[in-house]
Amino acid sequence: MTARSGSQSRGSLAAAVVALVVAAGCAVGGVGESGPQEPREPAPGQSRQAASPGPQTTRADGTTSVEEFKTDIGDAVNIAEDYWGAQFKASGQQFRPIRRIVPYQREGEVACGGQALPRNNAVYCSQGDFIAYDVNWSVAAFRQVGDAFVFYLLGHEYAHGIQARLGIRNNFTIQQELQADCMAGAYLGDSVRSGVLKLDTGDLDEFREGLLAVGDDPDQPWFAEGSHGTAEQRTDSFFRGYENSLDACDLG
Ligand SMILES: [Zn+2]
Repeated sequence: MTARSGSQSRGSLAAAVVALVVAAGCAVGGVGESGPQEPREPAPGQSRQAASPGPQTTRADGTTSVEEFKTDIGDAVNIAEDYWGAQFKASGQQFRPIRRIVPYQREGEVACGGQALPRNNAVYCSQGDFIAYDVNWSVAAFRQVGDAFVFYLLGHEYAHGIQARLGIRNNFTIQQELQADCMAGAYLGDSVRSGVLKLDTGDLDEFREGLLAVGDDPDQPWFAEGSHGTAEQRTDSFFRGYENSLDACDLG
């Protein structure tokens, strides 16, 4: 997936890494979103790796450089800003982009609401209005899953920032998370339809396989703190947004 012409970066899909991406990412995302009083550590059962084993598909090896990763992150941010800016403008509202995108490498290098962010994570922090991500871990996921997943991950965290701007606070974590998946889908689908983003062969499969891999363990209760939804629910939400735009996302 590229914002310009060009390269297609894909590696082998590693379900464990993908599961880690979102399981960890949004466990802490919850901390940022709901306040500093919450424990930083995920609840029991939330931190397990690879909740569902998922497919292990080996793909042609991609030489995926850090520069490419940075370019993709930058593109994903720019496109998200343009996209949400246009949406807000269309509804007569002022749009303020998320203040900062903060890469970090060490545990505790970045804090959200007084909580040090651990490694292997990505999060939207409402207190500081920023997205932070462990750059080494994100690059590893980028190499293993593919570039489309970077756009998805940024789109998902950016959506949490939009929820904060709209004052959306769903009753359950899972609703907040599935809505963010839907909004990420809308941002990507609309950007593809408008020609801002170009899909490469396999990008849709990357989304699909990535989402299948990040679903909660089937034993996880849907109402549990930190629940994101099953693979099926996440895939449904993402593609509902991807295909039908924001109308599908119940933004109210
Ligand atoms: Zn999330």
